Amino acid sequence: MPTPGHHTPNKVVVIGGGYAGTLAANHLRMRADVDITLVNPRPKFVERIRLHQFVAGTGEATVDYGTLLGEGIQLVVDSATRIDTAAHTVRLASGRALDYDYVIYAVGSTGAIPSSVPGAAEFAYDLAEFESAQRLRARLEELPLDAPVTVVGGGLTGIETAAELTEQGRRVTLVCGRTLAPSFSASARRSVAKWLSRHGVAVLEAAVVSEVRPDVVALSNGAVRASALTIWAGGFGLPELAAASGLRTDAFGRLLTDETLTSVDDDRIIAAGDAAAPSDQPLRMSCYAAGPLGAQAANTVLSRIAGTDPAVISLAFTGACVSLGRHAGIRQLARKDDSAVNVYVGGRMGAAIKEFTCNLAVSRIRREARKPGSTVWVKGGPRPEQPATAARVVTSP
Ligand SMILES: Cc1cc2nc3c(=O)[nH]c(=O)nc-3n(C[C@H](O)[C@H](O)[C@H](O)COP(=O)(O)OP(=O)(O)OC[C@H]3O[C@@H](n4cnc5c(N)ncnc54)[C@H](O)[C@@H]3O)c2cc1C
Repeated sequence: MPTPGHHTPNKVVVIGGGYAGTLAANHLRMRADVDITLVNPRPKFVERIRLHQFVAGTGEATVDYGTLLGEGIQLVVDSATRIDTAAHTVRLASGRALDYDYVIYAVGSTGAIPSSVPGAAEFAYDLAEFESAQRLRARLEELPLDAPVTVVGGGLTGIETAAELTEQGRRVTLVCGRTLAPSFSASARRSVAKWLSRHGVAVLEAAVVSEVRPDVVALSNGAVRASALTIWAGGFGLPELAAASGLRTDAFGRLLTDETLTSVDDDRIIAAGDAAAPSDQPLRMSCYAAGPLGAQAANTVLSRIAGTDPAVISLAFTGACVSLGRHAGIRQLARKDDSAVNVYVGGRMGAAIKEFTCNLAVSRIRREARKPGSTVWVKGGPRPEQPATAARVVTSP
């Protein structure tokens, strides 16, 4: 503990030990004199991109931090409740407070079951976080195999969940909202639809769930379908820590930053991952972006400590993957701006690529722990054209 008046320089508190925060903590070790604390509510790292496997019982989704964190990083198992920007402390649920010189804000995203859909908050389950996935897994284990299950959301998480469950012999309906796999090219979308129908999933496009009851879902076209279990996979929500700390966010609750990932309100707070909204133009919420953003957030902190100008973020997309059970998958190729091109890899090769990327997300954290600065990513991609220092978003407080 530093004695009063003798402040340890370069104390960095990383809030959130997911793909972005864990990588950022390791990357900060490029400088030996940084005191790094990682705050996370659980003692284990959660591979969120495997939570559909965890739910279906086809895989685990936690990894011991011991193999992921570089030497000297202090893990505090707790939740941040407020960043006190005046006192430079992070307040924790336990009542503890951590002093900081810099904060890396990497709290990720959460489930989002809409309160506007009657019964959804009460009866639907989500799988966006480890605890909600645990509840869902327990509920599934109680249900007979032939009980009808509804998955709400035609995006990648909904598709992966429906596919994983049908492969386990479940009776699954996928309610897509507008279309199935809207971010994919038409040909990849057809391939997903074909796999799902061949494996017995009833895919309802142009269908919106208007009410959830314990044993049915009602659709906005008036149809009512039996549903012993309803799983909500219709998008992510955001933790409220930034707003609760008086920091400006985008409309969804991501921390509003400039192009160096620095909060527009406080240059000691740097964001990364799903919870960052650089220039109010956030990158796709993804594990793909979270790691590289973690490294770049750490670089911004290291530049500020060194008294140099932080670099503007740079990250290009290359595509997205979806798993279709354990033996098939689709790798959709995309332009740097993340828009799909008409090329995809499917079948077993698609599954192998997906598995490779899931493993890579964790192995690069491990590599960064051994060798800080080793993470590489594809640079480029469209960002607003403005220099870092002028990139501060101007919105009325
Ligand atoms: C089922 C599923 C499948 C997915 N598949 C893919 C995929 O194939 N490809 C892809 O790119 N993305 C995928 N995603 C999205 C991906 O998981 C997220 O975009 C990614 O996890 C974001 O990383 P992150 O580090 O920003 O946040 P997270 O991984 O969510 O980590 C944030 C951490 O911060 C912690 N935290 C939150 N609040 C606090 C607090 N107040 N104090 C302390 N700690 C806090 C959280 O508990 C968590 O441990 C999937 C998501 C799900 C749910």
